[in-house]
Amino acid sequence: MEVIMTLQSQLFRGDVKLEAAAVSDAAHIVSGAKGDHVQKVQLALIQLDGAAITPDGMYGPATAAAVLAYKRKRNIVNRSYQTQADNIVGKMTIAAMDKEILAQEQPAPNARTCILFQATPIDVAAPRSSGLALSVTGSTSAAASDADIMARAVRSSRSTLRSSRDKLFDVANAIRDNKPLSPTLTRMFNIAAKWLNLSTANQQAALPHLDSATNLMLRNINLKTSTGTDVALRRVSASFHALSFLNSPDLGLQCGTTFFNPDGPNCRRDVVTHEFFHMIGITHGGGSLMGPTIRSAITTPAQALNSADNLAQLVAELETPGGKTDACARARE
Ligand SMILES: [Zn+2]
Repeated sequence: MEVIMTLQSQLFRGDVKLEAAAVSDAAHIVSGAKGDHVQKVQLALIQLDGAAITPDGMYGPATAAAVLAYKRKRNIVNRSYQTQADNIVGKMTIAAMDKEILAQEQPAPNARTCILFQATPIDVAAPRSSGLALSVTGSTSAAASDADIMARAVRSSRSTLRSSRDKLFDVANAIRDNKPLSPTLTRMFNIAAKWLNLSTANQQAALPHLDSATNLMLRNINLKTSTGTDVALRRVSASFHALSFLNSPDLGLQCGTTFFNPDGPNCRRDVVTHEFFHMIGITHGGGSLMGPTIRSAITTPAQALNSADNLAQLVAELETPGGKTDACARARE
């Protein structure tokens, strides 16, 4: 069967079930539905209205309520047979969502989302034993508001990025000046080599990549919206760490429940660093953001420099004494 492509947004178009819902009353999406198409609707509701739902692909009561709220807000009512909005995603609703999402994607034609979840703390020096669980749930956030927690994570991310950039800058300048690296600079060079896939045997060859990394860190530090304001962070009741859109700082960063119950003490900081790299256009190594970050697939400096995971891990390890990081390790999109 040929699929008629009606939908325009990156998020929706080409999805057989959503395309069907856009043209056929019989294909509308209702409570109880499951699947990728439902997840896309949920992502649209989160993105457009800040809906407090989990994008799990299940059209349950919370999603139904969010759909109803979406339709009421826009007065989406099929006058031919009803007088008020319902919680069904039919032709009018999918068209409205598609149009709004498309408008948000316009500044970034290749807009893709990163949803960071199921993150696992790692200890890069040794496999982490269960006895070393980094449990901070509740202990550091009891007195802090959500806004405080998010602001603190942003500040911490900015300050560690600045510090990391300074360190790599020192390494690069020493190499540029043909100076032998001190033990401290050598340790930093080796950390950079690890996360940027550089050969430790040829420091001069590594130089342009170190310069690229410091430039990307600077862009991350200086990231603003198109109107020059700080990137907005918002708490959403979804079970992920965070969600951002590629190349789209105007769309902000949405922090899910896991962000507030992090896996490690530096998890929030590293999530912010990771997601801000996406907002300056860094992907997961060049491939699709849809799917887990596969570290073993990142084998070249160019791929590493285009990987939010590699860059955030580099910052985390440069900043964590003893060469350890508890950065959120796994990014899924
Ligand atoms: Zn990501």
